Amino acid sequence: MAQTVTQFIPDENAMTTFGAQLMQAILRVQQQTAVTLYLNGDLGAGKTTLSRGMIQSLGWQGKVKSPTYTLVEEYQLANKRIYHFDLYRLADAEELEFMGIRDYFSADSICLIEWAQRGQGLLNPADLLVNIQYADSARELQLVAQTPLGEQILSQLR
Ligand code: ADP
Ligand code: MG
Repeated sequence: MAQTVTQFIPDENAMTTFGAQLMQAILRVQQQTAVTLYLNGDLGAGKTTLSRGMIQSLGWQGKVKSPTYTLVEEYQLANKRIYHFDLYRLADAEELEFMGIRDYFSADSICLIEWAQRGQGLLNPADLLVNIQYADSARELQLVAQTPLGEQILSQLR
């Protein structure tokens, strides 16, 4: 049975704070391999907000734009490359091949992927699924480890 952590997120601020904690947990366990997170949830659930908390916690001062039209935004921070994907508008999975998608999952990259199901079969499998559910203005996060690395990340969060 996959290891799971659930977290209640009362407001937007709590979402970015949790993003910072999640990023710290990733940095503690990452060694020479990509870390891949699939961020799942309806439009407006808070996938980009969580990503912003993760990215800004590494010192990024600028905006974290939703990569809806660009498919991916890249950040070079803390000796890491962070790739934030949003595949909502992906018309054809072949677009990912043209982008050279495999190169994004290189050692020491951190890949945060919204709407990963649109790129099924072409993406690295997830180490961690982050499932976000609405609970009025609050959110409920469920983090499910899919690999031993994902389990290590979750154990750092406790
Ligand atoms: P997604 O990327 O999943 O489509 P966004 O992060 O872009 O969602 O948008 C989430 C929206 O919900 C933002 O406008 C944010 O201000 C709002 N919001 C309200 N409550 C929360 C919460 N508890 N956690 C995250 N976002 C929240
Ligand atoms: Mg988004």
